[in-house]
Amino acid sequence: MIPYGRQNIDASDIAAVIEVLQSDWLTQGPLIERFEQAVAQRCGADHAVAVCNATAGLHLACLAAGLGSGDWLWTSPISFVASANCGRYCGANVDFVDIDPYTWTLDPAALALKLAEAARQGRLPKVVVAVAFAGQSADMRAIAALARQYGFTLIEDAAHAVGARYAGNPVGCGEFADMTVFSFHPVKIITTGEGGMVLSNRAELDRRLRLLRSHGITRDPSQMTEASHGAWYYQQLELGLNYRITDLQAALGLSQLTRLDAFLSRRRELAARYQRLLAQLPVTVQQPQVHAESAWHLFIVRLQGDRIQRSQREVFDGMRAAGVGVNLHYIPIHLQPYYRELGFKPGDFPQAEGYYSQALSLPLYPDLSEAQQDHVIDTLRGLLEQYA
Ligand SMILES: *Cc1c(COP(=O)(O)O)cnc(C)c1O
Repeated sequence: MIPYGRQNIDASDIAAVIEVLQSDWLTQGPLIERFEQAVAQRCGADHAVAVCNATAGLHLACLAAGLGSGDWLWTSPISFVASANCGRYCGANVDFVDIDPYTWTLDPAALALKLAEAARQGRLPKVVVAVAFAGQSADMRAIAALARQYGFTLIEDAAHAVGARYAGNPVGCGEFADMTVFSFHPVKIITTGEGGMVLSNRAELDRRLRLLRSHGITRDPSQMTEASHGAWYYQQLELGLNYRITDLQAALGLSQLTRLDAFLSRRRELAARYQRLLAQLPVTVQQPQVHAESAWHLFIVRLQGDRIQRSQREVFDGMRAAGVGVNLHYIPIHLQPYYRELGFKPGDFPQAEGYYSQALSLPLYPDLSEAQQDHVIDTLRGLLEQYA
């Protein structure tokens, strides 16, 4: 089976991890900070905090934004559940903003309307999580303008978008988002096994993220409420978590980072080839955002035509039967039983639901060969003819 995504691990990655295994530190050694600095530098961010996964990173980002009980977090319904769950972890209410039908990212026009209504009702969101979907940023310039107007914290869930660019700068530079969260899960652009990072340009956010990552404990005398009792002394200032990454993972991440550009160029090459070879088929692809360069985490098509759309499941099963590990990103979050329990229902976000009824993720990862990609396209073409 050709998977929809897969890591690329080479001998240099393996050597980097073995070196840590033979060193003095398996966790909390020198490589975590080196990894943080390398990612911050690559993205043009002032600060970066490595964490055990992006879900933890989103949770910490929400806590650092001061999100709590009674507050609102808004996000896109077409994302992984973690984009919304981070609000629930903080005890906040979650709501959604529908997607743009062409870029499949949070629609700034829908956001503007919803904000105007929320302002009248006095329930503006404290946090908006904009998702860089499939590797392409949302319209961050427009969303950031609304953040300034309405005073919410803008978090970019860039789990898909390590190495992507927007408005001439790397995603993570903080020109538009207050905090940017990356994932290093194996199906994403670079991997540390499990892992994530939160980037920001504000020292105060960075300080809070670091404190909360490690139990709320500090060893920094300048942060303490009284003079140190001695060299052993630390203080717990608030209720934090253990969301740390390990040196083993940081070593893998540093090694993977040296190959990020090669990964990105191969993904772009394969995505361009998909676009060229799918042009004659009854499918549409993600429309590029103005001034955005996707990292191409996912290559998704939307099936076009009434009969084909009704056969989405048959096409999906037919691809799997032919050894093509297609997937569907994502089931609208508001339709998950947990969120329906909170009052959401079918029809709430029509663009997201329409997208879900047509979408299909095709395999895309650096080691996908052109022969495999041809097999994916030929199989899809055959099924689309069969169900047309
Ligand atoms: C993968 C993913 C996450 C969660 O990442 P983990 O590192 O697995 O916790 C969050 N948001 C989106 C959009 C994702 O795709």
